[in-house]
Amino acid sequence: MAKPLIVARDLSIIYNQGKSNEFKALQGVNTDIYEGEYIILFGPSGCGKSTLMYSIQGSLPPGEGTLLIRGDDVYAYPPSERVYFQRHVMGIIFQSFNLIPSLSVIDNVALPMIFCDRDKATRNRRAQSLLDRFGVGHVSHKIPAMLSGGQQQRVSVARSMVNDPKILLADEPTGNLDSVSTQQVMDKIDEINTFDRRTIIMVSHNAAHLSYAHRVYYLKDGLIVREVVNPQRKQIKPVREGETIVTELEQLARLFPYDSVETLRVKSMVNFLTQEYSFDQLNRFERVIAFYIQGKIDRDALIKSLVLSKERGGVEVPEKEARRMAAVAERMIEHSSDIKRFRARKGNDNIFFSQHKLAERMRDHLSNVFHIKLNKEQNENMVELIADRVTGVVNEAEFNQRLIRGIRSRGLALSEREADELTRYFEKIIAQGVDVSYKN
Ligand code: ADP
Repeated sequence: MAKPLIVARDLSIIYNQGKSNEFKALQGVNTDIYEGEYIILFGPSGCGKSTLMYSIQGSLPPGEGTLLIRGDDVYAYPPSERVYFQRHVMGIIFQSFNLIPSLSVIDNVALPMIFCDRDKATRNRRAQSLLDRFGVGHVSHKIPAMLSGGQQQRVSVARSMVNDPKILLADEPTGNLDSVSTQQVMDKIDEINTFDRRTIIMVSHNAAHLSYAHRVYYLKDGLIVREVVNPQRKQIKPVREGETIVTELEQLARLFPYDSVETLRVKSMVNFLTQEYSFDQLNRFERVIAFYIQGKIDRDALIKSLVLSKERGGVEVPEKEARRMAAVAERMIEHSSDIKRFRARKGNDNIFFSQHKLAERMRDHLSNVFHIKLNKEQNENMVELIADRVTGVVNEAEFNQRLIRGIRSRGLALSEREADELTRYFEKIIAQGVDVSYKN
């Protein structure tokens, strides 16, 4: 099995060590990052994301614990070797671009190569080809101030790649950009990961970005408090079952390890629609629902098969009940496509707008189904909570708790019963929309 590229063990970083203002910004972090992974460090401001990133970059030596990159302690390197490491193994992109204002775009990109044995013409050729690749080749002779923020950031993406680094670090690279430029920069970084197969470590506090990463580390108060595996990306780090976002589908996958995702979806829905049916009826029910989920029969045919007598191979559900079930099934499938779209990595021109809209739509659907009237704050909290659950920031139990929690602490102040019903229903929709990655 491949060894991790970056290993941190009980890593602590202490600022102003020994002084009265000593501060421990990382408090014993453990990570294994594999070559080719896209990792996002996520969490509130001040939790230690940048500290971890700059420590990996070779600028912040461990106060305690160890940090190994390609098996080496880079802090033990002699200075010249450390500089070589920072220049050739690591590339970096900053939130504020950090371009030199008095230099042309092409000179900014060529600058990191100046310490290599390459003549000026070669340096310029390489810089220009990277600028072309990132869509800013036509402005290479302008100074940075003449470019838009999005263009400047794509210039810094080009600069970060100029020495062909193994690892690309990005410190909130879209923090200063509008949504269109954000999408362009995110797509370029994604391409560097998927096409150039470079390892990416990105600091972000934007939940809309999480779906790009293989894994997300959630930090709080200098610690990694959770690691979430993105079920939409094929994992590089060996993943144990249950490490992906835990949906009902996953629980079923553990109970029925040889069943396909499709079958599990069927089980999930049947289990929701039926509660007092015999084993025989359930088996027939599963067959009918399978046809419906696969799109082989429509809603009317579903109702017919549900109503049909047992002798004729049906489930023998009273007609009124069959109609209700068909309506629920139809609604669930319809809304599960929103979950799918929310988690989709591509094809969104305006990722913020559409993701927010999708979460709002799910919120409206849920409050409709459960006849819950929400005020403005509850509405906002609910959208955030839905986004958190769909991206795996919170698990099912935490989602449920947040529904009950007070509005001031980002909850919805629902009753326990409302919260339980809503959670149960929403989990079913998620199960229809999210795949179980290790089964694909
Ligand atoms: P994040 O990137 O998650 O916003 P940082 O890693 O920048 O957080 O900072 C983590 C904590 O360390 C914060 O409380 C911050 O105030 C503190 N910190 C960061 N840099 C320094 C520094 N150079 N000296 C002292 N404290 C610092």
